[in-house]
Amino acid sequence: MINVTKPYLPNRTKLNQYIDKIYDTAWLTNNGPLVQELTGRLQKYLGVEKLLLVSNGTLALQIAYKVLGVTGQAITTPFSFVATTSSLVWEDIEPIFADIDPETLCIDSSKIEETITSRTTAIIPVHVFGNACDVEQIENIAQEHGLKTIYDGAHAFGVQYRGKSLLSYGDATTLSFHATKLFHTIEGGAIIFKKKEDYEKARLMIKFGIDDSDSIVEVGINAKMNEFQAAMGLCLLDELETIIEQRFKLWHNYEVSLKDVVELQKRNPDISNNYSYFPIIFKTENELMYVKATLSANGINTRRYFYPSLDTLEYLQRKKSQAISRDIAARILCLPLYPDLNPKDQYQIIEILVNAVLKFRRISK
Ligand SMILES: *Cc1c(COP(=O)(O)O)cnc(C)c1O
Repeated sequence: MINVTKPYLPNRTKLNQYIDKIYDTAWLTNNGPLVQELTGRLQKYLGVEKLLLVSNGTLALQIAYKVLGVTGQAITTPFSFVATTSSLVWEDIEPIFADIDPETLCIDSSKIEETITSRTTAIIPVHVFGNACDVEQIENIAQEHGLKTIYDGAHAFGVQYRGKSLLSYGDATTLSFHATKLFHTIEGGAIIFKKKEDYEKARLMIKFGIDDSDSIVEVGINAKMNEFQAAMGLCLLDELETIIEQRFKLWHNYEVSLKDVVELQKRNPDISNNYSYFPIIFKTENELMYVKATLSANGINTRRYFYPSLDTLEYLQRKKSQAISRDIAARILCLPLYPDLNPKDQYQIIEILVNAVLKFRRISK
């Protein structure tokens, strides 16, 4: 059976060496040496400063909201993983959706301003599948209306935009290092801040609001990354070049074989690709369901991602329908993509997929 993703497990000998270090010092958590080492190496690798490691990508969002004083309403995209919206609701912030661009799949920046009210305090866009949002346009709107911007950059690890890190935009950008992501620490995440004072505040908040002299100076929570998570991250970082190279080949095979059969996400021409997802868009939801079932019958698992559109969530107070996001969510599927996906298996996936699409289009005429 082939799954849509498979967590990457790094070289075991190397991991053991890091674990030996943990055993030597018995320092398991609380900003230990491996967390410090990973922080430094990630800042260098990503080309960013003021990066704070945390225990997962959802807490990264929640802490960014707290630090930047997001309250009332925040404008976000309905086309994302549920955590982008649920973290807002959890923090008593009302998510207000602006619909997406049907080609880039990111928030449509021309629809942001019309949703601003006197209660709006922030914009929370998502770099969907590693594609860059209209960062300049969003910055202009935020400045004009005095709003904070927090990017959910969970898919944008390592993406460069016009020669600098895409993750350096906004007042903050959050990352997820969950096991299924391109770079992972089993569970984990990070926040990259623009301002030193915000970074310093977050550093206190993730450890109960206790400062270095043991005084309690803030309302805090526990969102610390531990040493075992950092060890996993350090091992992955050593292998990342190979991981991305393998993903590149697979991504490219899919693109060449499928670009004339299904619709693909329109990527910003000025960004680098981290090859973390391969989403395809069918003509109709019925076409998607037929192809998904055919693949599944052949032992190939795909994922409806993102589905459903978040404006359909039961627990939202106000549900203004987001037509484009709903339409895309109904027709989009992510294909298996992970470094040790066998090229032979990939050709089989492509063959079954293409035949199923053509057959469906023939029989539904
Ligand atoms: C994975 C993901 C998250 C959540 O991250 P966790 O580390 O699993 O908490 C948030 N937003 C997006 C877009 C994601 O893909």
